[in-house]
Amino acid sequence: MHGLRGWSVQPTIRHIGVAAAMILLFFMPGSSFAVTLSCQKQNITVTAPDFKLANRVCARAATSLDLLASCNLQQTDPFSIEVTPVLPSEFGECFGVFHCNDDLVQVLAPDALSEAIHRSGNFTNLPLDVLFDSLVTHEISHVLAFQSSSGVPRTSAEAEYIAYAMQMESLPEKDRNAFLQAHPVTQPVSLMGLNDVILSFSPEVFAVRAWTHFRIEGNGCEFIRKILKREVNFPTQ
Ligand SMILES: [Zn+2]
Repeated sequence: MHGLRGWSVQPTIRHIGVAAAMILLFFMPGSSFAVTLSCQKQNITVTAPDFKLANRVCARAATSLDLLASCNLQQTDPFSIEVTPVLPSEFGECFGVFHCNDDLVQVLAPDALSEAIHRSGNFTNLPLDVLFDSLVTHEISHVLAFQSSSGVPRTSAEAEYIAYAMQMESLPEKDRNAFLQAHPVTQPVSLMGLNDVILSFSPEVFAVRAWTHFRIEGNGCEFIRKILKREVNFPTQ
């Protein structure tokens, strides 16, 4: 998507090792001090510009893990989340990225996210704090799909289906309804309409279609399970 791009296989980011239950302060590139927090009860480490934001991401990670666990997406390994003012230049149009080789998620900090959504024109219908929280859920979905699956996705749409369905599912109902109203979907939604071309053309349309398809009776978490087992063939265009 123009914004919430899936995952990268480029080992460009070094893993940040942190002892359990410790809070560390250090310099973050492009900003001043950063805080690293080991989330209680989760095997997740969060680095953010300040403690309040790190704590918020830990809390969001906890609720995300509960949502995802209910849908066949399990955490099997530790990973880190970095809240950053800037993503690596190759992900310039993204809001977040999962570096699967480094067990690392990067998401734009709220201020940078605000600039990015207005620059891209995407996801401007959601309140900034709601979008930021859902971005965390989106990227954690990529992590757990990677950890839970038996192979790599064959298309970007395949990976993004899970992330957008879970992101939309995680939205407060009133915000989701407003987003759906702003991006009305033509029924019925089939897999043919969930391809890489639509994804690159309009991530918002893809997000609405993915969630609508996910919500069709008989799909839901069972459909996610089939994707993870590589039993679903997403069209490439
Ligand atoms: Zn994504």
